[in-house]
Amino acid sequence: MADKLERVVVEAQVPLDYTYNYRVGPYIERYIKGLGDKKILATKCPQCSKVAVPPRKECGVCNKIMDEWVEVGPEGVVDNYTVGHVKIEKGLVENLESPALLAMITLDGATVPLLAEVKGMAPTDLKKGLRVKAVFTDPAEDSLADLSHFEQVG
Ligand SMILES: [Zn+2]
Repeated sequence: MADKLERVVVEAQVPLDYTYNYRVGPYIERYIKGLGDKKILATKCPQCSKVAVPPRKECGVCNKIMDEWVEVGPEGVVDNYTVGHVKIEKGLVENLESPALLAMITLDGATVPLLAEVKGMAPTDLKKGLRVKAVFTDPAEDSLADLSHFEQVG
């Protein structure tokens, strides 16, 4: 055992770069195809009527199979939000050029909020109860990113 350390390392940066693919399953696959048609699809519980988006196979409340598909949105209400000032990419933390607005949005017809980014407004203008609408990627790319973000209605 060394009597004295000459140099102490207090920080190490290890950039991580992973590329991988995975099968999303039939529920999210149908959800992504819907986004490509500019439709937001959800599943509804036959027992408690919970409407989940993104769609889930099993209700988290009563464990019933949610096999009824419904279209929700494209507008909704901000339930809660946060403002992000940094991004973490490949293990590194960097300051954002402008703040990112992330909101829990309950879409019209849904009972479970969806986490999404809100763009086109100042952080001080984002409020609970604000009505927002979906903006889709055009042309569609067959990915979750086809629901690009939300912006204020009107
Ligand atoms: Zn249920």
